[in-house]
Amino acid sequence: MRVIVLGAGIIGVSTAWHLLERGHEVTLVDRQSDAALETSFGNAGQISVSYCEPWACKGAPLQILKWMFRKDAPLLFRPQSDWQQWRWGLAFLGQCNNAAFERNVAQLVALGAYSHQALRGLVSITGIEYDRLERGIAHYFTSQKSLDEAAHAAELMRTHGLQRQVLSRDELLAIEPAFRGFGERHIVGGTYTASDESGDARRFTQALARHCARLGARMLFGRTVHGIEVAGAEVQAVHVSAGNGEDSASNDVALKADAVVVACGAYSAPLLRSVGVDLPIYPGKGYSATFDILRPEAAPWISTIDDEMQCAMTRLGNKLRVAGTIELAGFDTSLDTPLARARCEMLARRVEQVLPGVCDTRSQAQGGQPHYWTGLRPATPTNIPFIGRTRVGKLWVNAGHGTLGWTHGAGSGKALAALISGERQPIGGFGFCGMT
Ligand SMILES: Cc1cc2nc3c(=O)[nH]c(=O)nc-3n(C[C@H](O)[C@H](O)[C@H](O)COP(=O)(O)OP(=O)(O)OC[C@H]3O[C@@H](n4cnc5c(N)ncnc54)[C@H](O)[C@@H]3O)c2cc1C
Repeated sequence: MRVIVLGAGIIGVSTAWHLLERGHEVTLVDRQSDAALETSFGNAGQISVSYCEPWACKGAPLQILKWMFRKDAPLLFRPQSDWQQWRWGLAFLGQCNNAAFERNVAQLVALGAYSHQALRGLVSITGIEYDRLERGIAHYFTSQKSLDEAAHAAELMRTHGLQRQVLSRDELLAIEPAFRGFGERHIVGGTYTASDESGDARRFTQALARHCARLGARMLFGRTVHGIEVAGAEVQAVHVSAGNGEDSASNDVALKADAVVVACGAYSAPLLRSVGVDLPIYPGKGYSATFDILRPEAAPWISTIDDEMQCAMTRLGNKLRVAGTIELAGFDTSLDTPLARARCEMLARRVEQVLPGVCDTRSQAQGGQPHYWTGLRPATPTNIPFIGRTRVGKLWVNAGHGTLGWTHGAGSGKALAALISGERQPIGGFGFCGMT
């Protein structure tokens, strides 16, 4: 089959790879000059199969309301005059109850387990290096109340077969001594999952894209998708910029195939809506800061989640990345607004608080080399992605991976490639939702 994959983030590239493995002829299209230059570029790097709870839970609405006026709030809803945002918000509220939470967790666990297997398989075949650390993920708490709630969550995860241990402060600091100074004063305890891991999503995705090219994929970088042409209820062509520097619709080329996969991250929603496929995917802006490690012996090896600031910290080679927060405010990727600056500064401040002197957190004005970045999570109200066939003939989707696209990337690509190839339902317990 000839398949066009739109979008070369972790999801599109993984889909392309698994299609090639099954013998399909693949064309991969992206508007950027390489793979993983948008949301898959600077994420927190966590393969967090065991920490997969969605944001939507019983306590979320009140918490979000409390956070609404705090610039450094972990989740910030900034109301816009955008019907899609309000619709998404209402659907999110509909998921904020115990029954939906447990149902969503079950599906995310199933996809996570399948995806971890797929990632291991992919790494063993390709040998890709991406600053991988198989040291687990630890979640530390500075409030006893939050730790007690985390113990309940750990119990729930154990019912799904995930080994999330609850640790005292001393046990936690024995596993990751880098936090000792801060921990002895502030940490009350934590949870730990030994089987989780971390690594650089950008390095991985770009390397996998090279493997796709080697397997014969046609790589169309620097090419913007302007539209999908549908007639007779099926896709006729994809209209893509010609790639000669002129990004205008009048200059487009039409690509034809037996199947088209939309894997454009948060931008999948408007593209699909243009052909009548309406999916609740909304951009959730997040930030990361990457710092040079000055004292490698004092830097953490285990990837962590800081409960108080709701950010994650991961060692990637000789750098430390801290990432987090979510802002629901449309397709805005600016880093130079007062709000964006406040959020980036919060990340740098937190690194200095928990690991004083370990990284070079100085601003550029002070002579430092911090790398600040922002990306749009393709968020769904459930945090469950859409993987499967749409009601338009020949049109498939792999999008909406929200906070877990790196964790679920390898498996989502494999699952969709299996479905396109007519293999039976690839993931037990995961619902391939009907898409209208
Ligand atoms: C701050 C932050 C931290 C995160 N941390 C983690 C983590 O620790 N673990 C985890 O599992 N996940 C994490 N995530 C989530 C994860 O990064 C995303 O879910 C994932 O990168 C989404 O991948 P994608 O391929 O769907 O989207 P993208 O990477 O955005 O890829 C979509 C591609 O489509 C292309 N595209 C879009 N529109 C068009 C068009 N019209 N024409 C041509 N090309 C187009 C874009 O150029 C882009 O390359 C984090 C996200 C953020 C923001």
